[in-house]
Amino acid sequence: MIRIGVLSIQGSVAEHAARLLEVDGVFPVRVRDEKDLSGIDGLIIPGGESTAIGRLLNEFNLLQPLRDRIASGMPVWGTCAGMILLAREVEGEEPWIGSMDIVVRRNAYGRQTDSFRRIEMIPSVSGIPLELVYIRAPIIVRTGDSVEVLLRTGEGIAAAREKSMLVTAFHPELTSDNAFHAYFSLMVKESKKG
Ligand code: GLN
Repeated sequence: MIRIGVLSIQGSVAEHAARLLEVDGVFPVRVRDEKDLSGIDGLIIPGGESTAIGRLLNEFNLLQPLRDRIASGMPVWGTCAGMILLAREVEGEEPWIGSMDIVVRRNAYGRQTDSFRRIEMIPSVSGIPLELVYIRAPIIVRTGDSVEVLLRTGEGIAAAREKSMLVTAFHPELTSDNAFHAYFSLMVKESKKG
């Protein structure tokens, strides 16, 4: 059994935990403090509002412990706001955790299209097309050399991986397919094996 934490400060926490429960051999755990962090094999940082989550991470003294765990190889997956929190650079703002070599633009899809659904193929993650839900989503505008692009769209990069860090601009926890949760669980299982 592997223990995958869901950062439980704000945002779509319960939805991630529900999708994780559908994956064999995975036990979802809520993470609220440093003690919770020490008991997990991987972590999901959910969508929500990145400024709100970032400020609370700072207030709860979790930013540095998170950076340290990620640097020591703990797999992490940021969805939407979670992707913003993981980015090395956020256009026009200070970064938060800053561990992943990507530059992101917040609210990149503009007001009219604040939220929408699209069907896309992401071959590294699933053999069948996936429904992707975007909610006031960011995009990745630049990536470092060690970043693998998983999905490029007309607007920019919407999913990427760098070593044991995964980011998606969309919300797989809000669809009925758990392909991304299975993919991330595999990353965690592989990292645990060493
Ligand atoms: N617009 C939010 C932000 O910039 C992210 C939205 C989301 O996580 N669904 O923080």
